Amino acid sequence: MVTISVNDLVVRYQSQGTEVPAVDHVSFTCKDGESIGIAGESGCGKSTLGLAIRKTLQENASVSGEILLDGTSTLSMSDVEFTKNIRWRKVSMVFQGAMNSLDPVFTIKKQFEEILKIHNFNGDHKQAIEQAISSVGLEQSVLDKYPHEISGGMKQRVIIAMALILKPAMVIADEPTTALDVLVQAQIMILLKRLKKDGLSIMLISHDLGIISEIAEKVGIMYAGQIVEFGSTEEIYKNPKHPYTIALLGSIPKLNETKNIIPLKGNPPSLVNPPTGCRFYDRCSQAMEKCKIEPPKISTKSGFVMCWLHE
Ligand code: SF4
Repeated sequence: MVTISVNDLVVRYQSQGTEVPAVDHVSFTCKDGESIGIAGESGCGKSTLGLAIRKTLQENASVSGEILLDGTSTLSMSDVEFTKNIRWRKVSMVFQGAMNSLDPVFTIKKQFEEILKIHNFNGDHKQAIEQAISSVGLEQSVLDKYPHEISGGMKQRVIIAMALILKPAMVIADEPTTALDVLVQAQIMILLKRLKKDGLSIMLISHDLGIISEIAEKVGIMYAGQIVEFGSTEEIYKNPKHPYTIALLGSIPKLNETKNIIPLKGNPPSLVNPPTGCRFYDRCSQAMEKCKIEPPKISTKSGFVMCWLHE
């Protein structure tokens, strides 16, 4: 079990002499045993948030604020200390598109052994690898195969098994079903749900609110680097408050409804020079004059919403 508290986190990327705040004053808590979803469009900062928690940001990133894992600050921790005590052991990550990063010249078993060696695992390697492979519903025979000999769905299961091999309390899964066909997507979701039932906490990063609602008790909606709405998944699904959340939910097709999908027009603003007022202003159907000038404050009257309509 692990509790993650993110307080006023800011992640800036330096690029060609410019600072880009990819994560901008983000705060939330994910308690022991809870699973959380982070939803938003591409480029909203959700993957950067996951990388910051796992301390895997690129060298051109600077971070301020606080990330606490069970009360211990990780930002001030050295990389050596983090790798020794937390990375893979407490919090692990399934990276976006990671199944394509399997090394084509080594068998799956060899790649598992490499992970255990890097992390100085001094238990029984064979047993740990076999347990990890079984936990994701794969046959042991997969271990002797090369990546090109197995399907995309099997590769994704292998990647999830690798993330689980040191038995972390939480896995951060960044778009774990993207690039998979719908049947394999459904199988991976069933697997994640089973792992969650067995006690694993999952932070699911996705552009797809439908997928998040299957796993997470809580969800944060990110827009242009900020969390604009946060709360229980059920409440946000039934009663979304922020116009962006409403638009995201309106764009999900529903089998039993004949209503047309309402596409969200326009694009998120550039983070190099973000708007002075609300970042959603240009795309918001309920925008007021005030929204253009003043950034909305966070309202916690009924949930957590960053919008002048809920002042
Ligand atoms: Fe729309 Fe204004 Fe709310 Fe922003 S603050 S989401 S522009 S109503």
